[in-house]
Amino acid sequence: MKVFKFGGASVRDANAVRNLAGIVRSHHPAPFVIVVSAMGKSTNELESILSRKWSDTHFQDQLNKFEEYHLHICSELFSETNHPVFEKVSKLFQALRDSLKTVSKHFEKDHDQIVSFGELISTTIVQTYLNHTRVAYKLVDAREIIITDSNYGEGRVRWDLTTKAINDKLNYPADTCFLTQGFIGADDSGNTVTLGREGSDYTAAIIAHCLEADSVTIWKDVPGVLNADPSRWNETTKYEVISYGEAAEMTYYGASVIHPKTIRPLAVKKIPLIVKSFQNPEKKGTRIADVQHEALEPAVIFKPNQCLISFQVCDFSFINESKISLIFHLFEEFNIQVNMMQSSAISFSVCVDNPDDKMKNIINSLSAEFDIFYNDQLELITIKNYRQELVDRITRNQEVLLEQRTRRNFQALIYKPTWES
Ligand code: ASP
Ligand code: MG
Repeated sequence: MKVFKFGGASVRDANAVRNLAGIVRSHHPAPFVIVVSAMGKSTNELESILSRKWSDTHFQDQLNKFEEYHLHICSELFSETNHPVFEKVSKLFQALRDSLKTVSKHFEKDHDQIVSFGELISTTIVQTYLNHTRVAYKLVDAREIIITDSNYGEGRVRWDLTTKAINDKLNYPADTCFLTQGFIGADDSGNTVTLGREGSDYTAAIIAHCLEADSVTIWKDVPGVLNADPSRWNETTKYEVISYGEAAEMTYYGASVIHPKTIRPLAVKKIPLIVKSFQNPEKKGTRIADVQHEALEPAVIFKPNQCLISFQVCDFSFINESKISLIFHLFEEFNIQVNMMQSSAISFSVCVDNPDDKMKNIINSLSAEFDIFYNDQLELITIKNYRQELVDRITRNQEVLLEQRTRRNFQALIYKPTWES
């Protein structure tokens, strides 16, 4: 039994939705569960509408355009102007407008209630279209099967409740197949909670894990897992097969092809993950599985929007374990992931995703203990299975602020002002 996941690019317009239907139709047996994200860049658009609402800026025109975008896709997919899909989509937009009226500046909670409409609208259109073309799929609301805690913006899955809900609702084999939203779930009070940006891959992995599926296929606009982002590097090669461990590491360092939380639920059940192109569905893609292989070709991973924070002791003492634990305690409290670190006698430096507004709190909390220095507009470059020649090419003429290497990995933190990216 298979699970398919289609991301935003694979449903960004009417042709893309037709293409999706073609892919689903050509698979026998049909994928049992299809997970679909919001169309195109809908999530960004909804985030932007919401921040206008928060700042009391006019957002109605932007929202109307956003609605027209979806209605236009519907009118291309359904020739009857009175097809029920138009009413279903209008109802969802009405609910979105009502929800925008009630936002309360409980930022993370508001965010999740509003951005989830991208997935709700998209899955309504895709499921209606599949059924219209005689590919029967039942729409299941992901909030009834993915149960999380109330950590808005980055919900943590409650595996016991989720496993039960998935097996109750998607009981396999059933006489129908199911389509559901990626990225969203709900806490046990029924509030919508998102799983983190780009989280639809993770949804597919959760469902596959709970149903013990045979495989998950993620349909992308790239031919598979490449050794670098093709928009940054023009000599990319595609990996044929990657072990779970290697793939998990790549996502950790910032490879954006798969959401970082996707691998684990699949690896523990040895469920293979296939990453394939929706533009060339007959091509093989990349298989991530329980395999052993020789060292892979080097992978170059760019992680933008980093900052380097250095904590320097100001009382003539040294950096020791208790000082480091003060720093880490705070990072844990603010939920900030440390991407690289380096210690010296009097200073401890960490590279983290730009913490924006959290930075002030960090500086305030630690300014009695340390002199704190801060650089932003940085990019962390990781080369897995590096070769010196590649390191030289990538760091040539760059301002490197921090550099580290182990036997297999090379990392450099470079200055990358926004006007250069
Ligand atoms: N639509 C969500 C996002 O753009 C989730 C996803 O695409 O995976 O982050
Ligand atoms: Mg996406």
